[in-house]
Amino acid sequence: MNLHVRGTILPDGVTRDLWVLGDRITFERPRVESETVARGGFVLPGLVDVHTHPGAAEDGGFDGELFGEQVAAHREAGTALLRFPGLSGTVPDAVREAVGAPRMITAGRWLAWAGLSRKAEFHTVTEELAQAAAAEAVAHDGWCKIMGDWDFEAPPVPYDVMRAVVEAVHAVGGRVAAHCQSADGVLNAARAGIDSIEHGMGMPEESLGFMAANGAAYVPTLTAFAGSRAEVAARGTARSRVWLAGHDTMIRRVGEAHDAGVTVLAGTDSAPFGNVASEVGHLVAAGLPADVAVGAASWRAREFLGLPGIEEGGLADLTVYEADPRREPAVLAHPRRIVVRGQVVR
Ligand SMILES: [Zn+2]
Repeated sequence: MNLHVRGTILPDGVTRDLWVLGDRITFERPRVESETVARGGFVLPGLVDVHTHPGAAEDGGFDGELFGEQVAAHREAGTALLRFPGLSGTVPDAVREAVGAPRMITAGRWLAWAGLSRKAEFHTVTEELAQAAAAEAVAHDGWCKIMGDWDFEAPPVPYDVMRAVVEAVHAVGGRVAAHCQSADGVLNAARAGIDSIEHGMGMPEESLGFMAANGAAYVPTLTAFAGSRAEVAARGTARSRVWLAGHDTMIRRVGEAHDAGVTVLAGTDSAPFGNVASEVGHLVAAGLPADVAVGAASWRAREFLGLPGIEEGGLADLTVYEADPRREPAVLAHPRRIVVRGQVVR
């Protein structure tokens, strides 16, 4: 049956009726009967987690069953769109095509340049980074994931190599996400025209101008770092002090990035899955205006990833809340109603 929702539509803030017909939204009342699933409240075009890695097994491999469970956890929380910047395996068709499954944007494997001095077991190491990156973007959903460095101490991928990657991927119509933790890593990627910087612990201020000019997003994944802070601080080593200083820098850069015109987006990069509301809380604490932080996990993220929000003919993803999340972001963790791909989840 068709669904009917009446509420205050965000981000516009206009209270109106909408209907869900299959996987589409319309503001025109259909002739056939529909079931009212929400009346009152605030309506978002679903939540988005732009940095999550479901299905990562403890041995670094890919577990399809675990992937399905963790995607389901995202869905139960109202997360209707997921971007996977690095997966060790292929998304099982049965999960991707299941009725009411979240929309998924995969970026293929984690690609690491052979010249990097530090790598992890889950990286796919290649001499031909630009070719490999373009191939991943074509083989997946238009994105690839590059290790711009590994941590804040080791030398990053050089600018020329990163530039070649960006040119090769853009030439095939794809986009590049780069993991960067060192100041030089972030700057090389930003200057090279990267599409998103993931983490960005040592992000130098001068990188923000390049990112703004190129329409790049900043995805700090603060939830993951907040979860490690106490443990790192307890080590009390010189290296842990550098980590803590880098963490303070990235928190400061969140607000500065927004002020500089960079799109800041919400990604959790950690368990539990379905926890993007927590990332919004961290973004607000870091200084993002609450409406911007909510948009970072919803309409702004959809726009950046090329999906419509709540509009005539838009895709049928909705979450409904009692309170206005722009005033009370914590309400994001408690959706009253969830519709994903036209299916009522809750
Ligand atoms: Zn990650």
